[in-house]
Amino acid sequence: MNPLVIDTHIDIRWPETPDWLSETAQCVDLPKMRRGGMSAAVFIAYVGQGVRDHAGHAAASARADSMLRHIRARADGGAARFCETPDQVEASFAAGIPAVLSAVENGYAMGHDLGRIAAWRKLGAIYLTLTHDGHNALADSARPRKNLHDAESEHGGLSPLGRAAIAEMNRVGLMLDCSHVSKAGMMQAAELSRVPIAVTHTACAALCTHPRNLDDEQLDMIRQVGGVAQITAVASFLKAPGANGVTQASVSDLVDHVEHAIRRIGLDHVGISSDFDGGGSVIGWANAAETQNITAELTRRGYGAREIGLLWSGNFLRVWRQVLRGAG
Ligand SMILES: [Zn+2]
Repeated sequence: MNPLVIDTHIDIRWPETPDWLSETAQCVDLPKMRRGGMSAAVFIAYVGQGVRDHAGHAAASARADSMLRHIRARADGGAARFCETPDQVEASFAAGIPAVLSAVENGYAMGHDLGRIAAWRKLGAIYLTLTHDGHNALADSARPRKNLHDAESEHGGLSPLGRAAIAEMNRVGLMLDCSHVSKAGMMQAAELSRVPIAVTHTACAALCTHPRNLDDEQLDMIRQVGGVAQITAVASFLKAPGANGVTQASVSDLVDHVEHAIRRIGLDHVGISSDFDGGGSVIGWANAAETQNITAELTRRGYGAREIGLLWSGNFLRVWRQVLRGAG
């Protein structure tokens, strides 16, 4: 029996988006999802960090809204089903219909308008990644942007607006994703949030030093608050570059990071994502059609169906349910 597989972070091409119902050059489209047994895909309304003025924030907000509407429309026509709750994802899986979900990457898209958070949830988004690369009005990024004149730290973690945004996300039931956020910002967010946080695409600094990775203290914090760390298929997060300067990582390298996180904080706090079409791709899991290779590697290392189910979706769904239960 195949597990319910949720890939929690997949980018889309924008604005020239190919028709995802047929085979495309993208890592993820509907035919590849079906072949690889990927049951559910969280597609991202991604907004790159830009200038923090009125025009920049307005353009970012408009882009996020259009992308969320587009992702929702992907599920029109019956070939896939747009899902906004864990129950809907499970029902879609039971019916054998691929599930489409959406999320917003980069709180820059809200500018200073806390009202966008409820609006995104209304459009179906399930999480917000607080920052991308570059500090925004909410928090410091793990990767400050020199070309945007970022200091090493601007807010010392979260800004007062960032704290208000987290309270609003808790209120409306939008999951908090701390990928891309500085260590201080992530630790503060985990403590502040009334419900567990997720880190939807990351890896382990203990195995590969990279500013986007979580160190063991951060992993411990995830366990402490009952959250989940989704280990992702970005080669440069998983392995140091070779002598030729090129990083080549494999399914086995990815699962090494999964196992480090499991040893450190327990299987209940670890998951898997691809970051496909946003830089994710490893040898053996280069696109959605190869998703079963991850399951096969976990099986080879002795994990059973229950454990693999938790890693692929059970832990993420648990956190999401806690977020929804805590809302209001
Ligand atoms: Zn990202």
